[in-house]
Amino acid sequence: MHIKKTVRKLLFNISSGIMDILYRRPYSDPEAKERLRSENKLLHLDLVITECCSLKCRNCSNLMQYYSSPCNLTSEDVINDIGTLLECISIGELKIIGGEPFVNQGVLTDVLQYLSENYTQKVDTINIITNGTIIPNEDCISTLAGIPRVIVTFSNYGNLSSHQEEFIKLCKQKGIRYSIIDDSFYWLDFGRPDKYDEPQEFVYRQYNNCYNRKNCNALYRGCLYVCPRQAHGIHLGMLPDINDEYVDLHASSYGNTDELRHSVIELVRRKTPISSCSYCIIGKYVHIPRAVQQRRSDPF
Ligand code: SF4
Ligand code: SF4
Repeated sequence: MHIKKTVRKLLFNISSGIMDILYRRPYSDPEAKERLRSENKLLHLDLVITECCSLKCRNCSNLMQYYSSPCNLTSEDVINDIGTLLECISIGELKIIGGEPFVNQGVLTDVLQYLSENYTQKVDTINIITNGTIIPNEDCISTLAGIPRVIVTFSNYGNLSSHQEEFIKLCKQKGIRYSIIDDSFYWLDFGRPDKYDEPQEFVYRQYNNCYNRKNCNALYRGCLYVCPRQAHGIHLGMLPDINDEYVDLHASSYGNTDELRHSVIELVRRKTPISSCSYCIIGKYVHIPRAVQQRRSDPF
């Protein structure tokens, strides 16, 4: 395993472009047909439970570095939102994200307990994405261990993931499933949330190929967004707030759950880019070092 990782890292250094095609495969969309067929299921969903993070990555694609007063979401709000969504549609992979979700581990525990008692047939797997800086408390650990559908995924930022090894040891002891992302030597640069002067063909192609559009539709503060960057960018007032580019789950205009489900499915199958895509350059496939920390003196 170690040799495989070293060879992969070496190849990334020689030609990151080729390795992108081989490993990250930005152009592939193996679930395209399934997405079109699935009338009652979201294949992937990112559930945001906090804007707080224990790291401050200069190039966080989800724009966490721009929060000057980040907040934890409340159990009541998150449960109300995910319950409303699950009332109308099921979910293949539910990713729980932040920021860093274990910063808000009380809410994380409540949400997991809720999902272990409600809509149990409507969520296939629950994947908690962590940067490995925090050891959860006993209550949280025993909740993680008590739900077989749960998996903890470590983003693995090397030395920055200061408690990853200890957390992994706990996972092994308690029988918690986990995985480690081991190919994140580089990140793709999404750029600052500024309007870029790229031609429409670029924006369409970028949206079409975008990993986030395919795998990371995001539920945040009552609304379903195409991607977490759009969600936070709108909340921060940095990206255009166009109301037909996301679904407000609690809008009174939805007469019943079928109408809401229809809007959700329409959003995830959307063919035209959202306005936020003109403020993003992931489609240039520019590599940057992963998880470089923002210093106080750095200009935004
Ligand atoms: S650890 Fe993740 S969520 Fe936190 S700032 Fe870095 S990339 Fe963003
Ligand atoms: S803004 Fe558009 S291109 Fe950028 S991550 Fe979101 S969906 Fe993808």
